[in-house]
This record gives sequence, C-alpha cells and structure tokens, in this order.
Amino acid sequence: MDFNQISLVKVKNENIEQAVYQALELINAASLFSKNNMKIIIKPNILMSKEPERAVTTHPEVVRAVIKWIKLNNHKDIIVAESSGTSSPGATERAFEGSGIKMVCEEENVKWTSFEKTERKEYVIKKPLVFEKFISSPLIEEADLIINIPKIKTHWQCLLTCCIKNMFGTLLLGNKAKTHARFSTQDMFSSALADIYSVSNPQLTVIDGYLCQEGKGPSKGDVVKLDLIMAGYDPVALDSTVCKVIGLNPNDVKYIKKAEEKDLGTSDLSNIQFLGESLSAVSKTFKIPRRRPISVPLPSWLADYMGNVVFRATVKFDPKKCKLCSTCWENCPGDAITPPEIIKKENTPIWNKNKCIFCYCCAELCPYEAVNFKINYVKNIVFSWPGLCFLIIFGTIIGILLWIFL
Ligand code: SF4
Ligand code: SF4
Repeated sequence: MDFNQISLVKVKNENIEQAVYQALELINAASLFSKNNMKIIIKPNILMSKEPERAVTTHPEVVRAVIKWIKLNNHKDIIVAESSGTSSPGATERAFEGSGIKMVCEEENVKWTSFEKTERKEYVIKKPLVFEKFISSPLIEEADLIINIPKIKTHWQCLLTCCIKNMFGTLLLGNKAKTHARFSTQDMFSSALADIYSVSNPQLTVIDGYLCQEGKGPSKGDVVKLDLIMAGYDPVALDSTVCKVIGLNPNDVKYIKKAEEKDLGTSDLSNIQFLGESLSAVSKTFKIPRRRPISVPLPSWLADYMGNVVFRATVKFDPKKCKLCSTCWENCPGDAITPPEIIKKENTPIWNKNKCIFCYCCAELCPYEAVNFKINYVKNIVFSWPGLCFLIIFGTIIGILLWIFL
C-alpha cells in the first residue's frame, strides 16, 4: 500500500459493488491483509435511524460491498460497529435497523454491535491537543484492521463531515454531548476531533459519495446523487480532497488542519497520487451551510464579535413537525432546552439562548427534522453592546446636526 494514494471511482449503472471493488483495487488495499484470521471492525456513519434514500447514514450497499470484498480476501471475523448520535438507550440499535445496515449484516452473516453494548476501555490520547482521555469500546484496541466508511455530508457546525469526524462515533452516546459541552468553541472541538481520531486511526477509508447531503447537513440537508466512491489511507488528504470535490475551501474546515498538526496526514494535495477519475471529472459544487467560520484575517476582538454575536443562530422548533419525543432536551449538553410541560402554554420545547453552546446536537438528532437554526444578522447587531453603542453615537450625531441646522 502507498499512504499517498487516493482512488476516485464513479458508480455506473447503480453498480455500487463494482465501484467499491475498483476503488480498493486501485490503491491495492488487499495488501492490508497481513495475516490469517484478522479481526476487522467496520465503522460506518449511522448517525440516526433514517432510510438510505435520505443520505444521513452510510448507504447499506456500500457497507455490503466492503463486507463482500473482505470475505473475498478470506477474512470472516467482521464486526460492523457504531455509536449513534443519540443518548437514549437502544438508539444505536434502532439506527442500525432504520438505516438498513442491520439487514445487510444479517444477510451477509456478519456481526453488528453498538459500541456501548461492549465492555468499557479508557483510552489515553498521546500528545493531546485538548482531550487527554476518553471511554470507548475495547473493540478499537482488539481490531487487527479498522475500516472507516464515512459519508460525504455538509455540516452546520464543522462545514464538512466525512473521514475524521466519523470517528467521533467511537465515543459512547452521552459522552458525545459532554464533549460538545467541554469543547464548545469551533477551534477546541476541531482539536478534540483530531485527538479522538488519533486513538482508532483507521488503516483504510472507503468514502460513500453515492448519495450525499448538501446545505443543512448532516441530517436535514438536501440529497445530492454524486455517484462517487473514494478509497485511501490518509484521512487528512481524503477530507481535503472531498472539500475540493464539493467546492469547499479545506482551510475553512478547522479539524483538517488540527489533524495535520497531529501528524495524521497531509492537506497538501500535490503530494497525493490520484487514481481512477480526475478530480475535475467527479466534482460538483455543493450548497455549503451559511454558518461558516470566518477565514479572512480580522483582529481577534472583531473575529470573536462576528463569530460569537453577528453569526449567532437562534434555535427554532417547528410546532407542525415536533412530536415532543424528548430527544432534544434529553441530549442537550448545555441543558438549554426545557420540556414544554414545565412551561404550560407552549407546545414545543423552550430554548434558553444563555445556556446554548451551539453544538447543533438538537438539530442533528431530532428524528422529525423539527429543529431549525436561523441567523438574524440585524437583530444580532442591534441587540449587542457594539451595535447599541454605534446606534447611540449615530443617534447623538444626527441629533446634534438637526439641532445645529434646524
Ligand atoms: S424538536 Fe424534535 S427532538 Fe425535540 S421534542 Fe420535538 S420532535 Fe423531539
Ligand atoms: S439547544 Fe441545541 S445547540 Fe444549544 S446546546 Fe442544546 S443541543 Fe446544543
């Protein structure tokens, strides 16, 4: 295997299996099978229970193709493992079922499990950027080979979710919310993602770009049929390449740089050998979420003001869609959502802007797509101290001018 190779293969005539095989063959991925009877963990993206056509989870046929490829290479000890985004008991099992991945595992006769159904193991992170240790499953340590199968989706908070962010799913249920709360800024959360990735550090990644999400991803975006399968070894190069494919500046996705700082790979694509299709042949510009980190150089106080005040979103619950299922308030790491029964008149949950850390868990996890984030720039400016000061100064000047000239 060559760490600097990335394959790009189009899915033709809906034949996902052929595209996956070809992508893996181009990078000679079979060379990873270094001994007999290897224990192999497959880590797809199973954020929640959503049907494959909604493109929230890794497509089950991509998972099936990878399982069949492993079997063709004479390895049978395969476990598909994940911890979904929700912290309610049984959520990951429901997500396995709803995504169609449980059915594929049963048809292919391989084991599947939620990470939280296994034993517990504390992992200490080497040279941490921010995160010293976390609890996960011993499967990560026991595996001879970990294969990451992320999906290409835009993301409200991080702008992209693909290779590096997919391993956030090795944290167990409620720990995800706690991690969001502890590392509440974009910068710290990106560092935490790089730290978490470094523990499992999958040896191989197969990217599901068959059906993707653009816009309000990772769960409420619009579906894009990109018909693309990618494979490679370097997560930083793979995520940087995905950015190029969907028309996103890799510098805007902070965790890519953090992972590079941690020596997990390179974002310099001139070092990468692309195999199969050319980048230009597979590229398609995606709608990128509007809440983007500021990339123009600004004084730090102004960047903080823009990021924390002007671009601050307001959480809105859609009363027509909300089924009061409790997922959002049970999983809110900032304790910023109140169940409506506590405040009698309301028929949706109540959002507390002072407690919200803008982790977007509620929008990611709402099974009914009832949570929206709106940015009211004018209101944000007017109701901030700099905005009020500006209005007072501006009003005073106008008042003085009127007093002088009238
Ligand atoms: S907003 Fe969504 S997650 Fe929250 S209670 Fe309503 S349906 Fe459930
Ligand atoms: S209200 Fe939503 S975005 Fe805010 S802290 Fe809670 S889960 Fe996160």
